[in-house]
Amino acid sequence: MHLSLSLFFLAATLWRADAFNVRRDALSDCLAGHDVPVVMTADPGWDTAVKPYNLRLQDTIDPTIVVVARNEADVKKAMKCAWSTKTQVSVKSGGHSYGAYGLAGTMVLDMSDFQKIAFSNGTDIVIVGAGVRLGNMAKGLYELSGRALPHGTCAGVGIGGHATLGGFGLDSRLWGLTIDVVESMRVVKADGRKALEVSATKNAELFWGLRGAGASNFGVVTEFRLKTFVAPRENTHFGYQYTFADSGKLARALVVMQRWGLEKAPKELGYGFLLFPGGTVNLRGVYYGPKDVFETLIAPLLDELKVIYDGRVPVTTVSVKGWLESLEYLNGGPLEVPLKGYDSHDTFYAKSLVAPEDRPISVGAASSFAAYLQFVPTTASWYVICNLYGGPGSVINSVPANSTSYRHRSSGYVWQFVASGGPEANVVEYVKNMVSSFGNEIDGYPAYAPYADPELEDPQTAYWGDNVERLRELKKVWDADDILLNPQGF
Ligand SMILES: Cc1cc2nc3c(=O)[nH]c(=O)nc-3n(C[C@H](O)[C@H](O)[C@H](O)COP(=O)(O)OP(=O)(O)OC[C@H]3O[C@@H](n4cnc5c(N)ncnc54)[C@H](O)[C@@H]3O)c2cc1C
Repeated sequence: MHLSLSLFFLAATLWRADAFNVRRDALSDCLAGHDVPVVMTADPGWDTAVKPYNLRLQDTIDPTIVVVARNEADVKKAMKCAWSTKTQVSVKSGGHSYGAYGLAGTMVLDMSDFQKIAFSNGTDIVIVGAGVRLGNMAKGLYELSGRALPHGTCAGVGIGGHATLGGFGLDSRLWGLTIDVVESMRVVKADGRKALEVSATKNAELFWGLRGAGASNFGVVTEFRLKTFVAPRENTHFGYQYTFADSGKLARALVVMQRWGLEKAPKELGYGFLLFPGGTVNLRGVYYGPKDVFETLIAPLLDELKVIYDGRVPVTTVSVKGWLESLEYLNGGPLEVPLKGYDSHDTFYAKSLVAPEDRPISVGAASSFAAYLQFVPTTASWYVICNLYGGPGSVINSVPANSTSYRHRSSGYVWQFVASGGPEANVVEYVKNMVSSFGNEIDGYPAYAPYADPELEDPQTAYWGDNVERLRELKKVWDADDILLNPQGF
């Protein structure tokens, strides 16, 4: 009996492996027949092509072929081949998914040759290819026009994931998220049969879904058309660093900083705080305007914090920078990123929480959190970033809630908890417990999709909330055969 069962399982395994090989061969034959450039497992560039940004997840991905599309025609041919061989595809732009989801498919569609940065004739709309990284985009755009658009701080992040999931920068309260400045997109259908213009007037439901839940779910974006703004000349960077030996005082300071932002920060203020081991909190950000205006604005908050800090003065840096200098400072180095062979990586686990404007963290929750940071030992190195998304006049929250599939239009702060180093299980556990230390009041707080958290139990609800059903319907319309793969998506 045992022997026949074992033989049965062996036969089934061999059959599955055979079927897989047949499909993989059919896919590579199809791609070769259509002259689409590929990197295969035995090719010299393979390891680089499939190396995730987050090395912690190296063993979770197993692609068998990487297509390096040169143009829209290649994307169509590649998607047709994937569709006809029932191969799941993930699209890779900058490869910075926290969950390595750009590499999740059996076939990876690498968009790194889509490097266009050019203005649409006579307009302030910039056309950005889906493989452009944020640093190159910001630099190229500014050098062409003196203009800018809102996006995150890390130069290596790709526009493909950023402008389909969210895209927050310190200028987002002033201008919106990256998804909010998308005027239109060029999209290849999941079956590769067509390329479409997608905008508020053309394929509007798809446009809704692609801005917030677009990552490898409904179509392949090849090009974005993005609204731009005159880059501010004076950008006042600030940092006030406090170190609290007493976790109770740290908690009070956090609550004061949190409240001040929600009540007083004008939309020109990019504002938040970072937490580090040893009771250190760095209140930092950028005021998109003159230094004297900023200093008058922030003075009452500093006075309030001074009382908690026993009259001491924090380590203070305030400086005015030009636009590119400001972006370089936030990035921690030059904006320009190599077009090919990008090879920066990290090894980390992160969780996020989106605290609604009307449910900020209470003193009790902040105290329990600060005590955790102070008293629970760990071998991991960690930091926490808390950025203001809401507050007076924030453009992020002024976008109508149902106009995009991004769900957080009444957000107060987005918290991000990041750890690395030490045995992996400890890192993951430490971050999870750090978040739980806030207690029950954070139950039901959503999560921010661009900070993909592979450990979430119900990621769709956490990221997209009430939009989930509508997004499922969209998937049925635009990718009924489930060719595009986002492991936490649709
Ligand atoms: C170091 C670092 C800093 C970051 N800083 C910020 C920040 O300041 N603000 C912020 O909001 N976020 C930030 N992020 C998160 C970042 O915005 C997301 O991880 C984003 O999804 C990365 O996009 P990508 O194209 O680089 O990644 P990829 O891994 O290439 O793609 C991410 C997802 O989008 C899909 N996708 C990519 N291109 C396309 C396309 N053309 N069409 C359809 N689907 C596509 C992929 O399949 C994948 O599911 C940061 C991430 C890192 C690692």
